[in-house]
This record gives sequence, C-alpha cells and structure tokens, in this order.
Amino acid sequence: MQAAPTADLNEAERARILAKAALFAPPPATLPDGRRDLVGLSREELVAEMVAIGEKPFRAKQLWHWIYHQGVTDFSQMSTIAKAMQGKLAERFVVGRPGATAEQTSTDGTRKWLFGFRDGQQVETVYIPDPEEDRGAVCISTQVGCTLSCRFCHTGTQKLVRNLGAAEIVGQFMAARDSYGEWPSPTDGTPRLLSTIVIMGMGEPLYNYENVAKAMRIIMDGEGIALSRRRITLSTSGVVPMMDRCGAELGVGLAVSLHAVRNDIRDEIVPLNRKYPIEELMAACRRYPGASNARRITFEYVMLKGVNDSEADARELVRLLQGIPAKVNLIPFNPWPGSPYETSSNNAIHRFARIVQEAGYASPIRTPRGRDILAACGQLKTESERARRPRAEGGAPATPPASAA
Ligand code: SF4
Repeated sequence: MQAAPTADLNEAERARILAKAALFAPPPATLPDGRRDLVGLSREELVAEMVAIGEKPFRAKQLWHWIYHQGVTDFSQMSTIAKAMQGKLAERFVVGRPGATAEQTSTDGTRKWLFGFRDGQQVETVYIPDPEEDRGAVCISTQVGCTLSCRFCHTGTQKLVRNLGAAEIVGQFMAARDSYGEWPSPTDGTPRLLSTIVIMGMGEPLYNYENVAKAMRIIMDGEGIALSRRRITLSTSGVVPMMDRCGAELGVGLAVSLHAVRNDIRDEIVPLNRKYPIEELMAACRRYPGASNARRITFEYVMLKGVNDSEADARELVRLLQGIPAKVNLIPFNPWPGSPYETSSNNAIHRFARIVQEAGYASPIRTPRGRDILAACGQLKTESERARRPRAEGGAPATPPASAA
C-alpha cells in the first residue's frame, strides 16, 4: 500500500488539532442578563446581529468604527447613532473589556496586567516599551494555562483550563490601549505607542487557531484597530501542521521557540518536539509563506547553563538555519521559584552569539525586562492565585498546587 502524501497527513492532523481545540472552547459571549458582547464578532456576524434586531446592515459599519477605531465602550458616546438607537443597542449588547485584577509597572516601563474574564479565568498581558523610541510591543495570551509543559516556562506548570475566545484575545490589546489612552486608533502612519503585537504570552496559539485567526483579522481590519500584519508576530513551539495555514491565511510574522538543536535535548525542554521533531519544524519554516530577508523568521533560544549553550550547539544552530531567512533571539533564562534550570554565563551567551553572528544571522541578546516585577510568563497569575487562597490553620499559607512548584 502506498504511503499517504504529506499534505494529506497534515490535513488529517490539522483536523485532529482543531477538534481538540473545540473541546476547550471559551464560554459563550452572552452575559447572564442575556446581552451579547459585540467585541470579537466578525464583520459578517455584526451585520447579522443588526439584521436580527431589524436594523440596516450599515449599522455594523458604524459600530465597527466606534468599537475598534474610537475605542468607545458606552453606546451613549456613539454620537453618530441616534439616542433611541443607542438605547436599543444598550438593551441588547455590551462592548466588553477584560478587567485588570492586578497590574504591575517595572522601573524600566514594562507593564504587566492580569486580566480576568466573566467566568473568573485570568491571563497575563505585558507591554514592553522600546527603551529608545515611543513605541512598544504588547504580548498577549491565547489560552488559560497550556498543554505543552515546556520545562523552562512557568506557564507550562499550569494545566490547560480553556482556550480564549476572539473577544478575550482582542480585548487584551484593547484594554492595554485603554491603559495608555491610545484611542482613537492612530492612522496614516502616525506613530503608535502600542505599535506591535507578539502572540507569545500564555498558551500555544496554534492550538487555538480559529479564535486567534478571528482575533487577528479584527485587529488587522483597516477601518478599526488597523494594525498591519507586518506588526504582528505569532510565536509557536512548533505545531508544524498549523504553520502553513497560519502563514497562508494570516500572513503574520513567525517566531519559533526552538531552544535546542538536538532532538534528545529538545524532547526534554520542549516536549512537543517528540511529535514534531526538529527536521519537520525546520522544513515547515523553510516553506513558511511570506518569509523573506525583509521578513525573517525569529528563532527564540533561551540560554540554559550546561544544557544548550555550547559552541557545538551554536554551530549546529547555524547548520539548521541554512536556507531560512532567520534571526535568533538569545534569551538569558529568567528563573522563577522552583525552575529546574540556571541561566548561562555571560561568556557562554556572548560566545554563542558570536558564532551565530559570524555565520550571517542577527543574534541579539535580549535584555531582561521587568526584572523587578513578576516577569516570568505565568508568574503573576500564580502569585495572585496563591494570595487569594484561604490560609491553612495556624496562619501558614495553604499548600500551593503542583502548578506553583
Ligand atoms: S513556552 Fe509557550 S507553549 Fe511552552 S509551556 Fe510555555 S506557554 Fe506553553
């Protein structure tokens, strides 16, 4: 019997991934009082909502402008809509935002929020300002917890609870912009403070592809938030079958959490590697739609002392990158309580960087940001949950769950 072609295998695997994602679906976007959240609806869905209440489709265009261009959450402020209509909308709909249950700002300007949703679940969102210019990246989450258990990652210690809906993904960016007052959405190349999005927070975005894709389409829509696909980077730990689809449909930039150059090491620190090994991952990068010298794929590489930081590792990395328009971000490991690794020495990091650079790849060493706040991804959530738990008898804190180890 002939083996199935790779494309068919990938198609079957994609169907399996999407079916699994549906098992962790977010709660419905309807409030207990029956009103529906308009954030997170596609344009077509918004039109359908208007038609369903007996309004003309053009109302959807007006609402889109107020919600995503002006950033308004109160129907009474939508001045191009008549008062009676404002009332009718307010009876049936809301323009939702996640609520910040915790917020920390570092001395270096990094700001981190713990955003809570209607079912009480929480995720982290971080704004990392550029130290030299008035711009910066918002790092958003796509799942509550994560299935992947990468060994160096604090979020990987928190089991997957559910996927975020499109409203919750877009809502993180909108709430971050509320925090800086960046409304209406800057147009015509006017500089933005919150200028890029990295989908790199809690969760594996390609395991929640449908909601992430819907959220990105909303964010990229030219009549709303209007953030260009060139300003969005999706980071994956290597869900190979979904990478082609992401590139073809969304055209956003790609970052890959590589972190090791040998399968035996990567199997341990990024366990997804056992399913999609390095050779398959690099092949998917080679064919990623839209990758070019102007739009390189970023490879994230966390520097772990004695694990992945040797000169031989650096040379192997160069070999793996051949033929890929690539840039390597070297990340000094940011330890959290109970983490199993130490960060590499400065010498080891610089030696590694030099070998990669001499081979023609940019390999900046990422300056640790927000060291004075709970900066490891997932740490603010764990600490906040620990603080909220009832104290055990005698005043000692209750035993932390395994996820806080
Ligand atoms: S690095 Fe990303 S994919 Fe891996 S456990 Fe952490 S959140 Fe999940």
